[in-house]
Amino acid sequence: MPLHLPPGLMVSVSGIRGRVGDPLTPELVCGAAAAFGAFLRSEGAQGPVVVGRDSRTSGPMLRAAAVAGLQSVGVDVIDVGIVPTPTVLLAVEHHHAAGGMAITASHNPAEWNALKLVTAEGMFLDADASARYRTALRESDPPRAPWDSLGEVSTDDGAIDRHLDAILALDVLDVEAIRAAALPVALDCVRGAGGLVIPRLLETLGCTVTAIHTEADGRFPRDPEPTAAHLAELGEVVRRSGAVVGLAVDPDVDRLSLVDEHGEAVGEDLTLALAVDVVLRRTPGAVVTNLSTSRVVADVAAAHDAPVVRAPVGEINVARRMQAEGAVVGGEGNGGVILPALHHTRDAPVAVALILQHLVDVGTALSGAVGRWPEYHIVKTKVSFDRSALDAAYAALAADLGADAEDRSDGLRLAWEGRRAWLHVRPSGTEPIVRLIAEAPEEAAARALVDRAGAVLDGVV
Ligand code: MG
Repeated sequence: MPLHLPPGLMVSVSGIRGRVGDPLTPELVCGAAAAFGAFLRSEGAQGPVVVGRDSRTSGPMLRAAAVAGLQSVGVDVIDVGIVPTPTVLLAVEHHHAAGGMAITASHNPAEWNALKLVTAEGMFLDADASARYRTALRESDPPRAPWDSLGEVSTDDGAIDRHLDAILALDVLDVEAIRAAALPVALDCVRGAGGLVIPRLLETLGCTVTAIHTEADGRFPRDPEPTAAHLAELGEVVRRSGAVVGLAVDPDVDRLSLVDEHGEAVGEDLTLALAVDVVLRRTPGAVVTNLSTSRVVADVAAAHDAPVVRAPVGEINVARRMQAEGAVVGGEGNGGVILPALHHTRDAPVAVALILQHLVDVGTALSGAVGRWPEYHIVKTKVSFDRSALDAAYAALAADLGADAEDRSDGLRLAWEGRRAWLHVRPSGTEPIVRLIAEAPEEAAARALVDRAGAVLDGVV
């Protein structure tokens, strides 16, 4: 029988996600993993599947279930243990594996978990591959292997070491200069997988580290999303320790947020902006980001005469566009930095190294580095809206707001060059709502944009 997918389980292009126990059970994860193993074979991918997880308390249980599912369809497993999600992707590449599974709900609270699925390329499933997998998941019963051809399990304890070695070997970094600067830094790993990686990286780079929540036990002491509102304790640690920067990563270590030396969160978009500056100082080329990322990234690129391409929201969309453009750096405004010289995936350890390099480049603490760029304010809201009226809504918004530029590749994005402002209207994939996000140099102007857009949407229904 095909797997029964209970209501409430979120099955999307980003994977399978739910609250642990209800609806995300080990039975379900086992079935989804078996279907994934069979799917990879049906796509022609041979070899083992790499399995890694973040530090959540449900991780060992769901890892056991995923491994059993893969073995049941005759697929060998390489277990890389508790690692950042980007480390799983690198390990897929290293082992020439058929694919990978990261058991992590990223920045979601501790009661959630999820499967992120990786292809043989070491990249997340894109929309087409995900649709094929989801069809297989819903409709077919994967062929199980007989007793004498079950998958075997091996462990690989070297995945984090290889990841760190690859970062330290990057041409974009002057490791000796960073070491010589002996930067005092503060760190908050929210008891996610980062505690096993980031302190080692910082110490190798000669930093004096004052760290909190580096125990990788999944007992998150706060909301684990590294947004400004959740970084007060890190700010306190920065002030107390005299750090030049505070670093916060999410539980699966693909996003990095920054706190300045005064203890103030600088906004996640600045992580990518500063990383872009480091790369473009050394390597000319294109920058790719998504439609909801701050204009400050484009300002940095413009300072280096580099083109900026905006892709639909979603890591795989940005990564694919980066490949197509041959981009030298890219990522998302949520603190996700992608450096193709290492890999086409959001990688917080890489972002940490780039931020340290940036502080060495500009010779200041973080507020000085941020202060070199214009300041913007982003305002976000959401409104109830019926998807069937979206086309009419986009036409009404475009007519009412009269922008200089219009992009419909992912919802509707309107931009005004002279006002240095933009508005992005995106329907939710799972709820009858649209999200409105606007940015402008003044908060009032950004708020006025989302208010006006909300009023226009009201008039369309
Ligand atoms: Mg994450």
